[in-house]
Amino acid sequence: MKRHSIQGVVEINSAAPGPRVVIMGGVHGNEPCGVSAVSRLEQDFLSGALSLARGTLFLTIANQEALRADVRSVHRNLNRLFKENSDEPDCYETRRAEELKGILATSDFLLDLHSTTSTSPPFLMCEEDGLAAAGSLGLGRIVVGWASLGNGALTGDTETWARQHGATAFTLECGQHTDPAATEVAYQVAHRLLDVTGLINPTTHSLHPAPIVLRLYGVKLKVDESFIFTKSYSGFDSVAQGEIIGRDSHGEYRAERPSRIIFPIDPVKASMGTELYLLAEEMR
Ligand SMILES: [Zn+2]
Repeated sequence: MKRHSIQGVVEINSAAPGPRVVIMGGVHGNEPCGVSAVSRLEQDFLSGALSLARGTLFLTIANQEALRADVRSVHRNLNRLFKENSDEPDCYETRRAEELKGILATSDFLLDLHSTTSTSPPFLMCEEDGLAAAGSLGLGRIVVGWASLGNGALTGDTETWARQHGATAFTLECGQHTDPAATEVAYQVAHRLLDVTGLINPTTHSLHPAPIVLRLYGVKLKVDESFIFTKSYSGFDSVAQGEIIGRDSHGEYRAERPSRIIFPIDPVKASMGTELYLLAEEMR
């Protein structure tokens, strides 16, 4: 085990060749579950409770300055800055993305650990090419289609960056920021990924018998300060076809199809141009 030259990164190598796996926490500084899972895994390897059977593991704490300040971001959302030829203005997060890009781009698997503002059950995000591997991670809810929404406001996330460079990449939403259960979800799923990728010797895990798989089809960005939701939504709440979800001075916003609402956020807390909610429909 060694401290990497990049701050906040611990690299663990096995003598046996195998995949390069990145477990990342703290991309957002107000989401403690991933940080605690990464720290706990580091302790497991230090104490000998876990040992690496093959491959290389990178345990990464991403947005250290935002974590110190207990804020989502110091200047910019780090999870929108992983882009080619980034000409973003200089700030802590743009420099941090530049530092971390190489580790993600050379990884075979990424698990990026997050939590949500509103109450929500845990769910795993990936693209359709990651569904087979996603099924082995034991989650009851899987959401695909973030990258294929093709919305410029959503680009630059860690998962898409790693996937564009050949990795099987996952974003895990572990529950609400302050939910103590989120920490355990983060650790258990990270442990499973190490198992599934063969980095640690296999242990017994139960699979979810019938995970719900949803595909994102829409996103509502905040373009007006007057936006309000018609009711208080939690993540994964069902929305009927035609249901009015919210309104602002431009009009009403309805669900086109029977949907689930993902990432609903208090409009007051959303910055202009960022997501108020996403909509997903069941795939199977
Ligand atoms: Zn997050």
